[in-house]
Amino acid sequence: MALKLYNTLTRQKAEFVPIDPKNVRMYVCGPTVYDYAHIGNARPVIVFDVLYRLLRHVYEPDHVTYVRNITDVDDKINARAARDYPDLPLNEAIRKVTEATEKQFHKDIDALGVLPPTYEPRATEYIRRPEGGEDMVSLIEALVRNGHAYVAEDHVLFDVASMPDYGRLSNRSLDEMEAGARVEVAPYKKGPMDFVLWKPSKRGEPAWPSPCGIATPGRPGWHIECSAMAGALLGPVFDIHGGGIDLTFPHHENEIAQSRCAHNTPVMANVWMHNGFLQVEGEKMSKSLGNFITIRELLDDGWPGEVLRLNMLRTHYRQPIDWTKKGLEESQKILTSWFSQDGLDANDRDPLSKDFIAALEDDLNTPKAIAELHRFAAEKDIESLGAALGFLGFDGATLKQADERAAETAQSVASTVEPLIIARLEARKRKDFAESDRIRDELAKMGINLKDTKNKETGEIETTWEVAR
Ligand code: AMP
Ligand code: ZN
Repeated sequence: MALKLYNTLTRQKAEFVPIDPKNVRMYVCGPTVYDYAHIGNARPVIVFDVLYRLLRHVYEPDHVTYVRNITDVDDKINARAARDYPDLPLNEAIRKVTEATEKQFHKDIDALGVLPPTYEPRATEYIRRPEGGEDMVSLIEALVRNGHAYVAEDHVLFDVASMPDYGRLSNRSLDEMEAGARVEVAPYKKGPMDFVLWKPSKRGEPAWPSPCGIATPGRPGWHIECSAMAGALLGPVFDIHGGGIDLTFPHHENEIAQSRCAHNTPVMANVWMHNGFLQVEGEKMSKSLGNFITIRELLDDGWPGEVLRLNMLRTHYRQPIDWTKKGLEESQKILTSWFSQDGLDANDRDPLSKDFIAALEDDLNTPKAIAELHRFAAEKDIESLGAALGFLGFDGATLKQADERAAETAQSVASTVEPLIIARLEARKRKDFAESDRIRDELAKMGINLKDTKNKETGEIETTWEVAR
């Protein structure tokens, strides 16, 4: 079966035909590094890791180039740096924030079984490249030269009206966008939807020499970063561009406008892929609702990375996910049952079952691929199961550690709780209720709930216990 992918640009699922099967090229928008990555940010990382693995399987590992960037220049980063390091010069503070966040991001996603991409460029390295080649400044200057951008009050703006099919990706016409625009329109803009390619920096803010003869030093807009990194590392037209559905407009629409108009090409990437959004326990994740979950918190709570990854892949990537504790518990149970198969070796990469690959080749149908894993497990097809788990990034190591930790904890809790339960039953027998209540309260403080039942045959009271959740 051939690989089929859903393309946001054509709104159709179609056979994937690479421009050059010897170099299949994919770009995915990476994180803006100012805070811990949340579990929603993990979704594109995991989904496109599965696609990367699939492309490597179909076209050979050496024939796939995957770029996932790090956005390390952004107003949110500046604000965080000023807040966290008020006594440092801003540039130094920014470096501290971005370096620490980037390190943390790598630690977190390593735990999710994600392969490193071929290139992981930082935006600041592509503003002006001393070594030459495409960068943000060269793209901006090309756009001004081609009549697609203009300079106004030390800004450079993209002239949206200069591009007849602006809005194709998000399927909106310029008229509709302008009618719906609620943005405050800066007086120097020619059109309300014109967007910033370059803006002046205030004193103390990060700043680079400006393009187009602008005297005030400045910094790039967000969208131009990805156009420059994709162009520099993958060329003017490449195969697949991905990210979360929220990036479709304006970010991806504007990336397309910049890259196509600078390079004079009919497309930037042939296939545009977008993962659906993740919400938590039925609600949009937000700091104000208090349901904002970082990858780090989930790992610190003892959820193995494999469980987080499986939980993510049990839903098709284009569907919304409702992330729940119940779902995580189910995912953990499933994985534990698979890894308890005798003779399973998750590092055994071959042979991969045809049906398993066919499911993934159908627009990354991971729920169906997971159904195949269930079948392998039921049929004790250990080779297929092990190979497929390795393919999906599971090696079972952290799951095993977590299971061992849980067993140890259960044992140590039991060795503390059980003598107390016996002491309480004895106190009740001698009608020392003050003592039996005291023991019950002591256990409650430890987070242990007791349940008394009468044994129907002997008439004796029996006590069971559980850890309160
Ligand atoms: P950001 O750092 O906000 O630019 O986001 C990095 C990536 O995470 C982008 O591809 C976003 O589309 C994606 N993303 C952010 N929030 C969510 C969410 N709740 N569900 C799924 N993807 C998300
Ligand atoms: Zn991007």
